[in-house]
Amino acid sequence: MTAHSLRNDRAAAAHDDLDVRVPEQANGAGSFAAEDVRWRAVLDRDPAADDAFVYAVITTGIYCRPTCPSRRPLRGNARFFADAGEASAAGFRPCLRCRPEGSAPSERQGDAIREACRLIEVSETIPSLDALAEAAGLSRFHFHRLFKAATGLTPKAYAVARRAARVREGLARGDSVTGALYEAGFASNGRFYAAADSMLGMKPSDYRAGGRGEEIRFAVGECSLGSILVAESGRGVCAILLGDAPEPLIHEFEGRFPNARLVGGDAAFEARVAQVVGFVEAPHGKLDLPLDIRGTAFQQRVWKALRDIPAGTTITYKTLAARIGQPEAVRGVASACAANAIGVVIPCHRVVRTDGGLAGYRWGIARKQALIAREAQKEG
Ligand SMILES: [Zn+2]
Repeated sequence: MTAHSLRNDRAAAAHDDLDVRVPEQANGAGSFAAEDVRWRAVLDRDPAADDAFVYAVITTGIYCRPTCPSRRPLRGNARFFADAGEASAAGFRPCLRCRPEGSAPSERQGDAIREACRLIEVSETIPSLDALAEAAGLSRFHFHRLFKAATGLTPKAYAVARRAARVREGLARGDSVTGALYEAGFASNGRFYAAADSMLGMKPSDYRAGGRGEEIRFAVGECSLGSILVAESGRGVCAILLGDAPEPLIHEFEGRFPNARLVGGDAAFEARVAQVVGFVEAPHGKLDLPLDIRGTAFQQRVWKALRDIPAGTTITYKTLAARIGQPEAVRGVASACAANAIGVVIPCHRVVRTDGGLAGYRWGIARKQALIAREAQKEG
């Protein structure tokens, strides 16, 4: 998979979020063809009958939807019509309570949900559930249920997904990180990373691992390679992890630092994360940040050698082993590459198999290929 198709897949996935489906109701004139079935539906105020027919009352001259809350007429005073047009043609007037001449409730609900999606799209901040429900003319509970049924997501999850998708789309178009964030409606990077917290379904500050230990700050964001987790200890950047979604990154992070106190990055951390994301997007210059590299003496030697490989070039595991003076330790070198916690900055993606094949990459072969292609392009 090329970098290009990786991005296209992401853009395609992002568009799935827009597909709004309102559940079909079991309606249609067919199932309410017989008059006694219609009468039963009127007595039951059956919502499934709402699109199927209207009924009129000869003593009042008014016609209604089957679900109208008004008092039921006597059976003998009720007349049935296929739709509002027929009832009007027969001289009946539409009821002011149930508005039988307008669109059916299921259509109105579909419109309301589509309108809510549009509101979410254009709002700079994520609208509250109360505001969305009020705009839709529905109760909080009813709106939430309908929205979830139509989109498969809660309004909040929908808003967060759309926002993340817009960031990815912007980056795929080649916008700068800041530009893409701004375009997606994040007025500052700070808000972006605050939103990333809620993508996790929990506050990272509530996310604790192990007992005593040092404090490591972290944040999860989006870059053109997918989700990215950046973490920093008191000594420097200690993790840059890449993945398809935030949750697996958090788990990987937790597994790598089991005894640390993991805390969500604050506003001050934002600049650091933006710096790292910027470097990942254009990995040519030098990331001018202190690194906190943790590993055995052997791993540290391998990672040091990795950092000496110029951007835009690749070497084999065998050459790398020779470079650290242990030509027999090819497998050990490969393991050390796989154990790297500081992706891109310690460029384990620049190591390939002797036959030129890409071999593995902790964060996925497509990302490795994308990084190599990105670096080669700039060099060429
Ligand atoms: Zn009515």
